[in-house]
This record gives sequence, structure tokens and C-alpha cells, in this order.
Amino acid sequence: MATLALRQNLHKIAELSNQEYKTAQFVVDFLEKCNPTSIHQKIGNTGIIAIWESKNFDTSKHKTVAFRAELDALPIPEPNNFEYKSVHNGVSHKCGHDGHMTILLGLADYLKNNFDKISQENNFNNKRIVLLFQPAEETGQGALQMLEDENFQNLNLKIDAFFALHNIPSYQKNLIVCRENTFAAASTGIIIEFEGLTSHAAEPQNGNNPALALSELTTFIYNLSSKIIKEKKNKDFVLATVVDAVLGETSRKSFDDIAFGVSPAKARVCATLRSYLDEDLELLSQKTEQKAKELAKNYDLKLKISYSEKFAATTNTQKSVASIKKAAQKLELNYQNKEKPFSWSEDFGQFTTRFEGAMFGLGSGTNTPELHHSNYDFPDEITQTGINMFVELIKS
Ligand SMILES: [Zn+2]
Ligand SMILES: [Zn+2]
Repeated sequence: MATLALRQNLHKIAELSNQEYKTAQFVVDFLEKCNPTSIHQKIGNTGIIAIWESKNFDTSKHKTVAFRAELDALPIPEPNNFEYKSVHNGVSHKCGHDGHMTILLGLADYLKNNFDKISQENNFNNKRIVLLFQPAEETGQGALQMLEDENFQNLNLKIDAFFALHNIPSYQKNLIVCRENTFAAASTGIIIEFEGLTSHAAEPQNGNNPALALSELTTFIYNLSSKIIKEKKNKDFVLATVVDAVLGETSRKSFDDIAFGVSPAKARVCATLRSYLDEDLELLSQKTEQKAKELAKNYDLKLKISYSEKFAATTNTQKSVASIKKAAQKLELNYQNKEKPFSWSEDFGQFTTRFEGAMFGLGSGTNTPELHHSNYDFPDEITQTGINMFVELIKS
């Protein structure tokens, strides 16, 4: 199978989170040629599930193994000029999801030729294989969309082991990187909006300008993680980063839109909160909310708090990590136990919250640009290793 052409075709049609229509169609067209028992489309918007089930499969007795890939790309313009450059302006695969999809399609192609044969083998007898393609990984929405879709629930999948991989730049190519417990951090975006009262800039005393609330809140968030670490004597990682702070009209596009004659009523602070443990993320959110409420009360401001891009921690079970280690050994791949979790977040955490499973890193080269970097491009040399790992995980 020509995985290179597959990957390049997927790269070309890169689409943003929850708009992966062409990509989903491409995936479905390929899957249909791989003789699955069934294909289910439009789950949680553009999500796809393909199932291979042996003849005597019985959910109550037999095991279901699932694998995940992501359909979405990023709002990053592509500076390179290769022949398979994204045709969608300003959108490109800079996280390697084109490669991850190719690996899962490679696995589908393997199942097409081998499922009947391997389902006869003793150690495999009566298994169900599920390939899941989720939308909107980058925004942390897609996994939950699928899980909450009644068409997903009606499939009653009872997954016994759920696996996913992510390519990892700055690690040697084809290295398997994994760890038990937290693999990738939990994180959330928090948006805090204050509203006072406008007045003439010459008479600010007649209005209520939220400037002080804004500055006090940004300072508070800036110092929040070190405060929590001190208080809890916490050895685990917690981090709060102010990512956006605006006083005045939040919709303005240039300095020409600034009304210098107005003392503003509105202020907005956005921050990203991160931790290795879901409970620490809860604590970060609570403390930030508490402070915002206190400031709103002190300065007599209206307050609105909302959240965006919420990711659960990706948690690997001991059993699933042991299977990954065994698969790597069998394939004679280098295996590295990662001492600390990755500080980034993964939507796969929604699946590990509900099912036994694990995610592992697949080294994508020490000289490969970092994920989300405009020069990044998925290295095709690691595709076959990804397929081989998943095949071994099926067999184990
Ligand atoms: Zn990404
Ligand atoms: Zn990614």
C-alpha cells in the first residue's frame, strides 16, 4: 500500500477543527475498500468508526480493542512549496494528524488482508477491532462530541483497550516513548469578563473603569502556580499563563479603533491553566474564579466566567503500557520510559477517562521542527512503525 500518497493527499485537503468534511469523506472512501464489518459516519459531527468483528463475536465474552486518529488540521499558513502543499489557505497539518490518519488507514489495509486469517489464530480468537477517527482534537471538543452522540452510545462498544499514538519531534525517529499514569497534562482556557460603566475619559470618576480589576487579576494569575506549589508542597506540575488581556472594546482590530475619549466599561482576561492531575486543574480554576469574584465585588463590576478548550489529563493504565512495551520489544524498537508527563494536552484524555487504555509517543526525529511550527511536516519514515505497533497491539 502506498502510504506516502495517502498521507500527501490528506495533507493537501487539510481542514480546521469541526470542518473536516473532505477529510472524513476521504477516510470513509478508503475504509470502504477494506471490508470492515460496519462503518459509522457523522458521529459527533464528522467522526468515523469502522469495526471489524469476527463471526462468533460476543460482547459479554470477547475483547474489543480500539485505536484513534485525529481528522483536524491547524489555522497555520504553510510556508513551504512542496507539491502536496495544503490547498486551503492558512490551514495546514502541523501536528501530524495527516500521518496519524495514514497509520490508521494502513492498519485498516492490514485488516482487510489479514483479519479473517488472524481471527482464526488461537490468541486472537473472537476479537473486535474498532478504528475511530475523531474531529476537533486541537480544540478539545471532538472526543466528547463523539462520546455524547447517541449513535456512539447505541454502538455499545465496551472497549477493553484503547490506544493512540502521537508523533513527537526532538525524539529520535521510531523511538517509542511512554509512561504509566499521566501521559499528557490536563488543561483548560478560562475567560473572565468584567463590565463596569463607560464615561468621558475626562471624567473617569463618573463611570466605572475595570482597569484595576484587570491588572490585579493578571498579576494574580501570573503568581498562581508558584503559590499553589508552595501551599500544597506539590511536586506535580501546575501552570497558569495569561494568554490575552484587553481593556476597552474587545472587538477592535487596529489602534485606529481606540476611542481615546472614552473611559471603558469592559475588560477581558484569558488564561490557560495546566496540570498533570485533573484535581489540580480544578484547584487552579477554583482559585482563579474566587479571585475574579472578589475583584468584581470590590470594584462593583459585572462578571462573566466561561471556559474553552477543556482537556482532561491523558492517563495510561499499567496494563496497556505493558502491552505497548511488549509490542516495542517484539518489533525491536527502542523504548523510553518518560520520567515526567508531557506538559501539553491531548483530547484522547476523554477516552482514557472512560476506558482502559494508553497513548504512546512515536519519535519523529531530533531535527524535525516542533509540533504546530509552520515548518513542521510529518516524517513519512515513521508511518510503518506506527502501523506495526498497532498490529502488535492487536495480536497481544
Ligand atoms: Zn496539535
Ligand atoms: Zn496532535
